[in-house]
Amino acid sequence: MPEKKNKTIEGSRIPMVALRGLCVFPEMLMSFDVERPASVGALAQAGKENQLIFLAAQRDLSVEVPEAADIYEVGTVCRIRQQLRQPRGNVCRVMVEGIYRARALSIDSDPKGYTARVVPLPDRKIRQEDDTRTEALLRSCISMYDDYLHMNPEQVNEQIINLLARPEPDYVVSYIAQNLPFQVEAKQAMLETLVPMDRLKQLHDLLKRELAVLEIERQLSEATQEQMNRNQRDYYLREEMKLIQSELGEDAEETEEYREKILALDAPQEVRDKLLKELGRLNKQPFGSAEAAVLRSYLDVCLELPWNKRSQETVDLSKARKILDEDHFGLEKVKERILEYLAVKQLSPEIKGGLLCLVGPPGTGKTSIAMSVARATNRKLVRVSLGGIHDEAEIRGHRKTYIGAMPGRILSGITTAGTCNPLMVLDEIDKLGSDYRGDPSAALLEALDPEQNSSFRDHFVELPFDLSQVFFITTANDIRGIPRPLLDRMEVIELSSYTDEEKLQIAKRHLLPKQRKKHGLKAVQLKIGDDAIREIIRSYTRESGVRLLERELAAICRKAAGGIAEGRFKSLSVKAGKLEELLGPARFKPDLPRTRGEIGLVRGLAYTSVGGEVLDVEVAVVPGSGKLELTGNLGDVMKESARAAITYIRSRTQVLGLAPDFYQKNDIHIHFPEGAVPKDGPSAGITMTIALISALTGRPVRPDIAMTGEITLRGRVLPIGGLREKTMAALRSGVKTVIIPRDNLPDLETIDQTVRASLQFVPAEHVDEILDLALMGEPSRADKDSVVAMPHSESAAARVQV
Ligand code: ADP
Repeated sequence: MPEKKNKTIEGSRIPMVALRGLCVFPEMLMSFDVERPASVGALAQAGKENQLIFLAAQRDLSVEVPEAADIYEVGTVCRIRQQLRQPRGNVCRVMVEGIYRARALSIDSDPKGYTARVVPLPDRKIRQEDDTRTEALLRSCISMYDDYLHMNPEQVNEQIINLLARPEPDYVVSYIAQNLPFQVEAKQAMLETLVPMDRLKQLHDLLKRELAVLEIERQLSEATQEQMNRNQRDYYLREEMKLIQSELGEDAEETEEYREKILALDAPQEVRDKLLKELGRLNKQPFGSAEAAVLRSYLDVCLELPWNKRSQETVDLSKARKILDEDHFGLEKVKERILEYLAVKQLSPEIKGGLLCLVGPPGTGKTSIAMSVARATNRKLVRVSLGGIHDEAEIRGHRKTYIGAMPGRILSGITTAGTCNPLMVLDEIDKLGSDYRGDPSAALLEALDPEQNSSFRDHFVELPFDLSQVFFITTANDIRGIPRPLLDRMEVIELSSYTDEEKLQIAKRHLLPKQRKKHGLKAVQLKIGDDAIREIIRSYTRESGVRLLERELAAICRKAAGGIAEGRFKSLSVKAGKLEELLGPARFKPDLPRTRGEIGLVRGLAYTSVGGEVLDVEVAVVPGSGKLELTGNLGDVMKESARAAITYIRSRTQVLGLAPDFYQKNDIHIHFPEGAVPKDGPSAGITMTIALISALTGRPVRPDIAMTGEITLRGRVLPIGGLREKTMAALRSGVKTVIIPRDNLPDLETIDQTVRASLQFVPAEHVDEILDLALMGEPSRADKDSVVAMPHSESAAARVQV
């Protein structure tokens, strides 16, 4: 008790011991071992004086020789009750009794024994405490401490009796704080708190937290115990079941069943040997073990694989041609090449190799032609989609030791087909990815390469499987996305976009009959006129293939079937102009032909995944300071192309009749409408050049002309891609003349007959050649906005009517 001694000790020097991981509270007894020389020295010193010692905790336990700064200033002045020298080393066990809180004003860290100059820290009663509140907190603390003791059987239960014997707040707080394994920081904080009520609250919070932690610990240990019990029980049950089964001979039955299947399996000897070995392992497993389940699924997968099971292929070329013609309209070149390919197979079946790759926009019939080939050659058909595969294991499987392991897609496909010589369509080979999980294209190469695929190894199956009998056909939208090593081994057959006329024929001959049949309609019940189909093609779909067209026809079939079933009508005849009721408002507006020449507005041609499109360029020239503005969501290549066009024009100012410093006195703005659609590529080069020249010279652009071509700094016109699709778009939009790069002349061969007959093509090697063809009137900057009637200008440039 601080009592009257306070006065005599205040500010006095007392020997001091730095505690590690402990705090002593006033009125509490505590024993601990002292070993450090300085501490032993201090104790000895205290023994010589009045048995008083100042105990303060160290901030960092690991510091062996603490300085003043390493020790908390607030500690407890204690009386030494007992000192016992321990037999081992220089260890001394002391029992002390806390007397009062004190603050060290200074610490003298003499290695022979620390001393501190301390002042007592009396409790502060700063406010009138509410007794009932104190009482409530106190009771709650005692009750929580009781709970704590119950949860910790190793704690002595009498402790609570001690407490109940003296239910004074200060005593209770010191007692519980001393006896519970709180962190030193928490205990120190309580020691440093001088307002008793605050100490009580701190203790309350700490106890609450401690109890919550103990509760979670208890739940965890209960759960583990339960799991252990369950595992043990399962084990006994399994062993028992195994015993019963072996008594009944059931285990042997399963083994026998597997053995019979393995022996009867039409597969190479190596396969049967391996499977028997795995069966042996299965027998050694305890019943129901995870390993047994893996082995069973392994055996099941291997037994299901069609090692030598095959369908009788036929390569009857005339029949094959008939089937291909039956299923598909047009696609003559594609059919021709497929038949050639089959002919080679027929003549020399032993020749390995030949891997077909059908490349073309979506909906152009790649998958369906592969299906026809399967029908024509009497092979089973399987489709495997490769889009978005990043993981090698998707192709080649996971080792069977992985949880949930399965064979890869190739062998799964073979299992689905049920024969070892199916036709396997690998869709979207251009969408394969590769990352840290391995490169699927390498695994795919092993499966497809005729040189190595006769012993394809799947990680799961772990046995070589002969894939050389499989007829692989891969499909892709974009040849550039196909991994190079794969591309090198494939024979690429390109399918290009359909013209509107081709789409009409496909719809009439194939899609409509197919959809009618699907919806249970007879030909008399639903008729769709040619004009109506044309309108669907033009106003409801914009695509290279016929997928959307097929979908729209299916929608009409549904409406017809619905109407007939409900008895609203007996048959439906769909005519052009009446589609809105069935399909809703038109989704695409036709590109209207232009009737007048405009300044700075040129029709370009673009190629997108849905086919060709017309792409206008607008150029405005306004007085300014030489700024160039490019808008319309353009890619870098397109922007560079615009800069090249401007530089070319600057080098030709004289010929074009422009002021040599036009670019310094004007701001030029080049814009491509539909700003939300990203655009890129070099093929708008000449389009931008002509639009710029038109805007700068004031000469209007001929309204019925469109153009495409890359431009160089010197005005040369370089070839571009997608001519077939671009020219289709030009025709659709009412254009009559199309300027194309001279180097693209050979590509005119690939262009559709109707398009060729309706358009005039002008090949150009240099921009200079097309100026007078593309621009009307004489240079005149004055009448910029005037509308100029279209003259029939004969150009000096060579024209080719193809
Ligand atoms: P892809 O695999 O190229 O994306 P699909 O083979 O799925 O395209 O073709 C989409 C639909 O169009 C199929 O129903 C297909 O039968 C039909 N189709 C495509 N081209 C033709 C064609 N030339 N003749 C008949 N039907 C076709």
